[in-house]
Amino acid sequence: MKIIVAETGGFCWGVRRAMDKILDLSRKKEEIYTLGPLIHNNQVVALLESKGVKPEKKLENLDKGTVVIRAHGTTPQVLNNLKEKGLDVVNLTCPKVGKVQGIIKGHINKGYQVVIVGDEGHAEVVSLKGYSNNTAFVVGSVEEAEKLPEMEKVIVVSQTTFNYDEFFKIVDKVREKAKEVKEFCTICDSTHRRQDEVKKIASQVDCMIIIGGKHSANTTRLAEISKQYCPVVYHIETEDELKGIDFSNFDKVGVSAGASTPSWIINSVVDYLRFVDEKSRFSKRVLGIVFNSGLFRGFSAFVFSYGLLSLANFQDSLKFSVIAFLYIFSMTLFNGIIDLEGLRFSNPTKFYFLKENKTLLIAIGIISLTLLALLSINISLNVFFIILLASLLGLLYRIKLRLKGRIMRLFDIPGSKNIIYALAWSIVIVFNPLFIYGKSNALSSFLMFLFVFTVVFVGSILSDIKDIQGDKFYGRETLPILIGTERALRIANWLVIILILFIGVAAITDGQNFSMPILTMLFGGYYMLVNKLVVKKRNVSPLYYEFLLDNFALIPGLLAFVFSFFK
Ligand code: SF4
Repeated sequence: MKIIVAETGGFCWGVRRAMDKILDLSRKKEEIYTLGPLIHNNQVVALLESKGVKPEKKLENLDKGTVVIRAHGTTPQVLNNLKEKGLDVVNLTCPKVGKVQGIIKGHINKGYQVVIVGDEGHAEVVSLKGYSNNTAFVVGSVEEAEKLPEMEKVIVVSQTTFNYDEFFKIVDKVREKAKEVKEFCTICDSTHRRQDEVKKIASQVDCMIIIGGKHSANTTRLAEISKQYCPVVYHIETEDELKGIDFSNFDKVGVSAGASTPSWIINSVVDYLRFVDEKSRFSKRVLGIVFNSGLFRGFSAFVFSYGLLSLANFQDSLKFSVIAFLYIFSMTLFNGIIDLEGLRFSNPTKFYFLKENKTLLIAIGIISLTLLALLSINISLNVFFIILLASLLGLLYRIKLRLKGRIMRLFDIPGSKNIIYALAWSIVIVFNPLFIYGKSNALSSFLMFLFVFTVVFVGSILSDIKDIQGDKFYGRETLPILIGTERALRIANWLVIILILFIGVAAITDGQNFSMPILTMLFGGYYMLVNKLVVKKRNVSPLYYEFLLDNFALIPGLLAFVFSFFK
């Protein structure tokens, strides 16, 4: 079964902006109220409530704390009321909705009658109507437009999430009712693109799944549009509603989501569909185990280590590569289990996999750590102590410690995760074999250390960027959350450029061969490809991303192994 996931599904710009700001606020302020639910999605609203952001329907009940105006906006009357009450008001009205409010306000003053094309009672429409002093007519269909009275001068605006085709049909009808009609198609481009893509996908598939709140107007509209092009359409809120549906008769299934659906819910649905397919269920389950348990990451570490150590003409490459495998595999496994709740939002499939198989996985992890200890003791005590230190670092940085009455984790210091993670890989793959065991102090060993550190560091930044929405919901402060995605990407880009230049110049001045500079440049090329994907593509499966990011170690490892034959 082929699954086509819409690029445009999920949070629109305005909702993401409101969500980011409210999550920031929830970290700083105690009592936060939203006038009505922030967005039409029960799961997100429940999660926000757990962070102290409470929806309040009635204005009269608000007399303390911070009041947030949601992306739909509110009426000028309500805004004045809140200000008169002396409340701390944070206005998160989407600027695109604000623009429509401005158009209405400007034309009301010039004596125009306002017609709003939208859903009567929808929060955004209520807010728009407020800017017409509640004199606007609201029409949601051609039939309703038919009932409008004869008018002189009219402006027609639309709810930002209205159906594009329907809007123009209604405008045509309004033209028959007024002498002068000014139309403003204020349907947001994000809505327009989303609806266009849904039409395109729905016309290619046997079954269409639309994810989002049942009471979300824009999601319901996507389901309605899909029904015009596809025989079977499901409008669901979570993947639980898909259980019991027989997908064996479908060859192609399309997935899209409303503007208020978070990416973790879309990912859960897509992953559910991937695993429900009878024909490829077994192979996908195996793939799921390989990736979610950390086996693939361990394998990548093995190849990375073996390739680089072979390139360095190191004698005991195999033993140290097995150490790299056991270390990275067990650390990935235990870190996932320790930080299980955090995975719920960034990688739901992994979350359920680790949760359901926790006991077995802990047993496998302990066996892996025991083998790691035995193998490293067998090599030398120094090697064992370094591995012990790296393991403590790898495990303790996620564990909560009480310091001066405050619960703290090293992991929560922004950027610390990336540094510790990169340091652990470099120690196990390069420092332990070449510096501790091999007693090397050659420049080439130092360059390899730097190479591994940078590769893993930039990979972890891209991983944080991919997880940004889930991390924000979970309350984690990663580097991209703290300094912004663009700046974090810029840091990663510059690090890769500096690495290429540094290794190139060092190799030339030291008279080394060009294996490391070529390897670094090829890695730079792969990095750029993944970087583009992270920036441009939305709704990519976490499993696929994990594969791409684990290849940061696998590809240079394979290349280094090949280069070792030509030294
Ligand atoms: S759909 Fe468009 S106008 Fe509405 S909140 Fe999202 S970005 Fe803003």
